[in-house]
Amino acid sequence: MARYAYVNGRFVPHTDAVVHVEDRGYQFADGVYEVVTIVGGRLVDEQGHLDRLTRSLNELRIAWPVSPRVLKILMRRLIGLNRVTQGTIYLQITRGVAPRDFKFPKHVESSLVLITKRAGAFATPAQLQDGVKVITIPDIRWLRRDIKSVSLLPQVLGKQQAVEAGAFEAWQVDPDGNVTEGCSSNAWIVTSDGTLVTRYANNLILNGVTRLSILKLAQESGIRFEERPFSVEEAYAAREAFVSSASTFVMPVTRIDDRTVGDGKPGALSGKLRHGYLDYARERGAS
Ligand code: PLP
Repeated sequence: MARYAYVNGRFVPHTDAVVHVEDRGYQFADGVYEVVTIVGGRLVDEQGHLDRLTRSLNELRIAWPVSPRVLKILMRRLIGLNRVTQGTIYLQITRGVAPRDFKFPKHVESSLVLITKRAGAFATPAQLQDGVKVITIPDIRWLRRDIKSVSLLPQVLGKQQAVEAGAFEAWQVDPDGNVTEGCSSNAWIVTSDGTLVTRYANNLILNGVTRLSILKLAQESGIRFEERPFSVEEAYAAREAFVSSASTFVMPVTRIDDRTVGDGKPGALSGKLRHGYLDYARERGAS
């Protein structure tokens, strides 16, 4: 079956989907993106992703290429064309195409690209049964991590380091020894007294849309939680740990560097939150 992408006004075969060599995303990483999960053919937490996209665009003063209403229609058309019932849709907006020059170009339309990806499953049975490993690395990123920018080189390096260490993710650590977040996920622990902990959202982390939904679910279920930094040492001593993102939901972590987390099995609260989030994604979180 042909697979299509959307590029600046046209649905084109995926193999022909190209942008101009002077697109500012390509030359300066001058753009933003979102990844939205598709479950049962519907978009999970779509409004949360659009709200964050709006914020990212505003912070960088990039104009909308199409209105949010039209963007929603385009996403649905591409998902329909590619018959994706389970997977993700990637959307990228850059400042547009202009002769290479650092300052903002004038009278240039922003670029929009949409790509879908099918996923058989969002996690392997082994990942869910045994949990995954994360490593810790220094956080070498800029100080506007709240913007979902396509400038991802530190995360590319971090993920590669994780893969080479046999790990699923790398948790980035600030100069005070506190975990900021994963390279493409937010980081969570459950302390020995059962409190759920994740870092508060400011300029030092990306405020995950999944993170926000998990916090909402925790609140609704009466789960005690704290939004605060936690150290690598505290994470080593935690009862449970997990990561969250649109494409992994809640993924249990059972090893951090060379330490075993808790009893080495995915924790009960992580499991409860994963199931709770999956139910939410299939029902009231989907549109
Ligand atoms: N933190 C970073 C650095 C990310 O890149 C991502 C997702 O790509 C997340 C957190 C999780 O965000 P979300 O739950 O919106 O996917």
